[in-house]
Amino acid sequence: MIPAAAAVLAAIMSLPFLWQKPAEPYGGGTAEARFFDVGQGDAAMFIWDDGAILIDAGTNASQGDLVDYIDELGIDEIDCAVFTHPHEDHIGGADRVLENFEVDAVIMPDISADSITFSSMEECIDEEGCPVYEAEAGGVYKFGDVTMTVLSPAKEFGDANLDSAVVKIEYGEVSFLFMADCEREAELEALEAMGDDAFDCDVIKIGHHGSYTSTSDELLSAVTPEIAVISCGKKNEYGHPHRETLEKLDELDIEVYRTDENGTVVISTDGKTVWYSK
Ligand SMILES: [Zn+2]
Repeated sequence: MIPAAAAVLAAIMSLPFLWQKPAEPYGGGTAEARFFDVGQGDAAMFIWDDGAILIDAGTNASQGDLVDYIDELGIDEIDCAVFTHPHEDHIGGADRVLENFEVDAVIMPDISADSITFSSMEECIDEEGCPVYEAEAGGVYKFGDVTMTVLSPAKEFGDANLDSAVVKIEYGEVSFLFMADCEREAELEALEAMGDDAFDCDVIKIGHHGSYTSTSDELLSAVTPEIAVISCGKKNEYGHPHRETLEKLDELDIEVYRTDENGTVVISTDGKTVWYSK
């Protein structure tokens, strides 16, 4: 190889490294929603200057990674952890999060699971003396500049996915909707109870890893998002996200980012607009 070509190649190869340097926090904005790559599970965080809200804690297998991700962000204290429902792919790392960070409050629906993962989370909540609030549609929580509203469950279904806590986070003029593993039946119930306008948002974390059983047409027409994020594992056994869901998002020209393809997804905001920054 001639020396000049080698120099050009070296410059090109070093570009990805340069791009990864976080020159500005929040991708140049003032806050961000971060959807961690936890494989076939859910774990997201909304972060702004004064605080952080965690929505789900990934799987048992990803719990070490999740603690590292949060550590790397320099976060010691979490204002609130929403554990949307007691399935392992959402609360797998809950015990480790509670042990490693100061969690000021937990919000979760009134549904339990007969599993070691669930009892381990409950033990940690007790040990840490963490207050627990029941997730019910209509619940509003204020954290300085951030307002979080619970939009579902609007009634008790007695099914973990249907009873998922759905929350909307508002920051300035923008909002982020986290659909957990909520499915069509509960979406319709919540739309009826809360009204379509309550679901209007800029960014949606698609329900149930992109399963066709979620993201009903009724929900999408109320949400009118600009950006959709799907949290799922590479080549997962459920075939998530399903083709039906991707086609609906495509027809509506919604930008889609996926943790199986993009890794951890970061959506930044300045309180007025939203953009994909990683
Ligand atoms: Zn799930």
